[in-house]
Amino acid sequence: MPSPLGHTIAGLAVAELFQYREGRVRRQAMLMANAADLDMLPGVLTSRHPDSKHGRVSHSFGAAVAAGALAGCSAEARGRRFTPRFLQAVAAYGSHVALDYLGKGPEDGLPVWWPFSERRHASKHHWFKTILSYAKKHGFWKGLLNRSNASALARELAVTGPAFLLARVIGKKIRT
Ligand SMILES: [Zn+2]
Repeated sequence: MPSPLGHTIAGLAVAELFQYREGRVRRQAMLMANAADLDMLPGVLTSRHPDSKHGRVSHSFGAAVAAGALAGCSAEARGRRFTPRFLQAVAAYGSHVALDYLGKGPEDGLPVWWPFSERRHASKHHWFKTILSYAKKHGFWKGLLNRSNASALARELAVTGPAFLLARVIGKKIRT
C-alpha cells in the first residue's frame, strides 16, 4: 500500500478538485486521506508489527461515509453547510481506500463495501508496492530505509503527482 506521502498528495488532490483553498480545509483533506491508517497506530506504539491490524473495516465505504458525516457535522457546528464538507471528506477518505485497493495483493484484499459486504477485494493490477520495514534487524523506523521502499516511493509520486495536477485542472474548469 502507498505511504502517508502518497495518501497526503491524494488528499491534496481532492482539495484541489473541490477548489477549497482554505488552509484548514486542506489540512482536513490531508488528515482524512490518512485517517484510515490510524488502525496501525497501536502496532507502532507497542512496537508490534504495525501491519497486523491494517486493512480492516477502517478501509471501507462505510468508514468513508462515517468520516464524511463527522466532518459535515463539525462544519455545521461552525455555521457552514453540511453537504460540501461531507462530500469532500468522503472523497478524501475514499482516496485512501482506493489507493490501498490498488496496492493490495489478492491474498489480502480490503473489505471495500463494508458494512454491506464483508468480502475482501483487491485490484488485479498491483499499482503500488508496499512500504516494508525490516524491523527485526534494524528496529521499525530504521528498517524503513531500504532500496525497495525508495522505488515504492518513486512509483507513488509518479502516480499521485500527475493525479494532483489533473485534479487541479479539472477543479478549475468546474468552478469557472
Ligand atoms: Zn491504509
